[in-house]
Amino acid sequence: MKLTVRKSIVIITGVALAIILALKFYPRLTSHVVEIDLLSEAGISDGPYVFFDNKTTSVQWISNDSLFKLESKPSDYIHIGEGVDFKFQPKQLLALNSRPENQYDQVDKIATLSDIHGQYELYIQLLEANHIIDAKGNWSYGKGHLVIIGDAFDRGEKVTETLWHILKLRQQADKAGGKVHYLLGNHDVMVLNGDLRYIHDKYKTVAEQTGLSYAQLFAHNSLMGQWLRNCPVVLRINNIIFNHAGLSMAMVNSGQTIDKINNTFSTSIIDNNKDSIRASEELSLLARSQGPIWYRGYFRDTTLTNASIDSILHHFNVNHIVVGHTSMEQVEVLFDKRILAADTSIKRGENGELLIIDNNRFYRAGLDGKKELLW
Ligand code: ZN
Repeated sequence: MKLTVRKSIVIITGVALAIILALKFYPRLTSHVVEIDLLSEAGISDGPYVFFDNKTTSVQWISNDSLFKLESKPSDYIHIGEGVDFKFQPKQLLALNSRPENQYDQVDKIATLSDIHGQYELYIQLLEANHIIDAKGNWSYGKGHLVIIGDAFDRGEKVTETLWHILKLRQQADKAGGKVHYLLGNHDVMVLNGDLRYIHDKYKTVAEQTGLSYAQLFAHNSLMGQWLRNCPVVLRINNIIFNHAGLSMAMVNSGQTIDKINNTFSTSIIDNNKDSIRASEELSLLARSQGPIWYRGYFRDTTLTNASIDSILHHFNVNHIVVGHTSMEQVEVLFDKRILAADTSIKRGENGELLIIDNNRFYRAGLDGKKELLW
């Protein structure tokens, strides 16, 4: 084939243009991996904390008392090594069900636990012993749903690891046709609202080292903050409601619904200050002792009967309510199977249980992986 001078010029110009364009877009085409190594020899290690700022993503973590900080591109992956072992693209991770559904039907398998309070190892052991995850911490529950009924925050010292692992499972479950639900508890809302009375001393040091308050680490511009602010307070799967503390008669009398409660929390309770919550009758009702993140009536209100629980169940159109928040030694069945208590004192770091619902059979499952049929 003969090339004319004109053709050659066109080809050379074309190639040159292609090279210029490739160089210009090269950084966007190659995704870099930000490796997070959290050494746990002597000092404090924690993180990463991921923040979004217009076009950049900044990542901060502490390894052996040293603060690391870097900017990354939206296409970059972050890899949390050792332990959690999770590789993700921050924006993609958030895009996954950014506002999850609050109601599901025809779910065959459900596993539930509550009130982890930074006890990461115990949480992992429980899930692994009961084949929700494999020995490497990866999702192995197929199309099953895992429901975590709040209070991952406060008291313990492995809150960050727990939250990242939940996010990892959420991504893996989604791919497998399953789901991981995280519901907000009172301690989660406290941290988001800047009430830091119960954080472990480690996190006071983490905050000092990053130069931010602990609440700022979970602010609107953070990956964790954005995710948590989209988590619901009440979830229905089949004929069961899951909620941190419980739904009281006050919820029925004020005409609450699952959607209404979740919306009010996300628009008016999270990130709102105490005074304006107090100034509103409805917000006070939801945010305080009769509300779904603080209520203890199922355990303490001696006037409650099966009939009064039935009117709550009837109002929300379910047969059972599963709650955490009030600590028990094991999964407890109350009010003749109407209420299940799933806070099994994991916070003490010694023991804990899962509540497993498998094709309408209810079990409690322990650290030894043995299931005991409840009914
Ligand atoms: Zn609680």
